[in-house]
Amino acid sequence: MNLPGQMMYTPLLLSSVLQQAARHFDSVEIVSRRVEGDIHRYTYRDCHARAMQLANALTSRGIAAGDRIGTLAWNGYRHMELYYGVAGIGAVCHTINPRLFPEQITYIINHARDRLICFDASFAPLVEQIAPQCPHVEAWIMLCDEKDLPDAFPLPIESYETFISGHAQQISWPQFDEQQAAVLCYTSGTTGNPKGVLYSHRALTMMAYASVAPDAFCLSATDTVAPVVPMFHVNAWGLPFSAPLVGARLVLPGPRLDGESLWTLFEQEGVTVSAGVPTIWLGLVDYMRRVGKHSDRFGRAIVGGAACPPHLARSMRELGIKAVHAWGMTELSPLGTVCAPSNSYRDKSVEERACIDAKQGRAIAGVDLKVVGTDGAELPWDGNSAGNLMARGHWVLSHYYGTDQTALENGWFATGDVATIDAEGYMQITDRSKDVIKSGGEWISSIELENIAMSHPEVEMAACIAAEHPKWDERPLLIAVRRPGSALTASQLLAFYDGKVARWCIPDDVVFVAELRLTATGKLQKLALRQRFGKHFVEPHASKA
Ligand code: AMP
Repeated sequence: MNLPGQMMYTPLLLSSVLQQAARHFDSVEIVSRRVEGDIHRYTYRDCHARAMQLANALTSRGIAAGDRIGTLAWNGYRHMELYYGVAGIGAVCHTINPRLFPEQITYIINHARDRLICFDASFAPLVEQIAPQCPHVEAWIMLCDEKDLPDAFPLPIESYETFISGHAQQISWPQFDEQQAAVLCYTSGTTGNPKGVLYSHRALTMMAYASVAPDAFCLSATDTVAPVVPMFHVNAWGLPFSAPLVGARLVLPGPRLDGESLWTLFEQEGVTVSAGVPTIWLGLVDYMRRVGKHSDRFGRAIVGGAACPPHLARSMRELGIKAVHAWGMTELSPLGTVCAPSNSYRDKSVEERACIDAKQGRAIAGVDLKVVGTDGAELPWDGNSAGNLMARGHWVLSHYYGTDQTALENGWFATGDVATIDAEGYMQITDRSKDVIKSGGEWISSIELENIAMSHPEVEMAACIAAEHPKWDERPLLIAVRRPGSALTASQLLAFYDGKVARWCIPDDVVFVAELRLTATGKLQKLALRQRFGKHFVEPHASKA
């Protein structure tokens, strides 16, 4: 006979996370650098009060459970209020990535059928451009005071402060099924249209609980956390939920994400932990080196979204910052793995530790991983067998928004990444499956070749792509950006690979370019590079830089 446990049950709702912070960490600050450039400060108590005020304003405007409210906003306190105020009443906070192409943004807003869009002043020109193509949007709300609305704007807009003003800063948060949607985020759609991923309250709350653990983000009330990773994509890696959960002070950096602006803010506010894509840390390291800074307080930077090159982790360590490698994706809310030491770490040599630190890490509690071969059979955890990475767990997507077709294969989500897993469970990404270089039937990891190139002191950035080859099908071609003042040649850079990888893995050639563009989510634009340089070995003249 079943015997039910006799513990209290309350659904895992995001409103309870902020409510807890407002009660138990009421005077802990949320500091925001605003679009206007100034610093705004208030507490978790204030944030909760204004999220309740927003919830009341939304309800009085007829917004109900399940309705989508779009945001086009930087990391800031009003965005935080939207996360909680919208989700708190059962509506869905749809975070939109403003770095996507305007046509993609229009597609996303229409596909989601957003009823309201709340946007930062810096996105006013974008709103002006897309609004005529978004007929379902009932109101465009600028995240500002009434006095800061532009004098002349081609469409009716409201100010956020007026929208919420006059409403009570008190609500009894509705209790509903924890499986209801809280946040919607679209993939960046490098091939085809972006796809919607609808996060439930349960998934985001559970991920927040798991992510604060010591071998995950290791967050506590003594931390000051600055998510540089944007709130407009994949929930800023869940930090707007995990920081209040433990009562960590939160610093939201707004739009200025260059090395100098971040360093100044981090120093001023005593930031201890931050999170961002590798290019953010490259910018910070460059600035710190240029002006001779060393970090005392800012001790940990979580690096994800793209592989953290070992040379970057080394440079950060020299400046007093530990790079903590993490992997995830939109479909995983996004946290999958974090690289933390295992029990045997302390017995390992410096070189062995560096090899471990370069990996993307072990699955955090609540996520399960495996790698499979082309026949779908699981590959051994030997650190060498590379296969398609599959994931399952409490915050892994099951269906894309708007479809009732499962996105799973036998209960697992195919991530599209190619990886190895070693005997201790450390996962290492070798490629996106579409970026793998298949040379004469063997697979070559583009990430490994890029990491080696970027460890050359005269290389600023590098991408390795598969270029068509008459004999081997594909061969690696390196596209590199030299550091200013460098006259590095292709043969010098190729010689740098000697002894670092098997001879047949060394790229066949190097093309130097002035810059390498990144996608809207901070990844190398490999598709564009393949289109431009993919015929380098068969039509060499077609691919001149
Ligand atoms: P997104 O859905 O935009 O967050 O992108 C997810 C993809 O980014 C993953 O499937 C990986 O291909 C890549 N990615 C994320 N984190 C890492 C990492 N630490 N190392 C290598 N690739 C990563």
